[in-house]
Amino acid sequence: MKTRLLFLGPPGAGKGTQAARICDSNGMKHLSTGDLLRTEVAAKSDLGQEAEAVMNRGELVSDKLVLAIVESQMKALSGEGWLLDGFPRTVPQAEALEPLLNELKQPIEAVVLLELDDAVLITRMLSRGRADDNEDVIRNRLEVYRDKTAPLISYYQNKGLLISVPAQGSVEEITERITKVLS
Ligand code: ADP
Repeated sequence: MKTRLLFLGPPGAGKGTQAARICDSNGMKHLSTGDLLRTEVAAKSDLGQEAEAVMNRGELVSDKLVLAIVESQMKALSGEGWLLDGFPRTVPQAEALEPLLNELKQPIEAVVLLELDDAVLITRMLSRGRADDNEDVIRNRLEVYRDKTAPLISYYQNKGLLISVPAQGSVEEITERITKVLS
């Protein structure tokens, strides 16, 4: 089983749900930059206050801010596997992750791409009711995904790390598919 993973895919593809399930069954640490940022927002920390408006517009928080969060989380790991969910989201973030992982001597073992049609993504997100889940903001997040995050697909394909998994079906079916490609 591969236990140093990235999850990639459009908003609404179910990365968070699947990441939690995979990490639970395999004793890995789930690091979701979206969740970490929402925790900062709820705590009204300086970092959270800086991030809140940007997130509510569906735009990306600065690379610098997100990197600071990821770096401190990764350095606090104690030997267990990990799954990065929602990070990297831009090519510069991916480029910054490399020296960090080299330093930790923990290379990525696989990048799992969850693939789903836009129509299904939008329906799923509208049913979630989060502060950044209204229709205009969702469209913006999909556009940001296409512009800034989708280039990571070929980035990781070129490194021989990408594995695509269809993300339609039941939660259990998708977990099963992911587990299979990682074993
Ligand atoms: P989703 O996968 O549904 O888009 P996330 O919970 O991953 O939601 O992220 C919610 C928001 O948090 C993003 O729209 C963005 O504003 C911010 N965010 C999360 N991760 C990153 C990141 N790696 N870089 C920049 N912004 C991020």
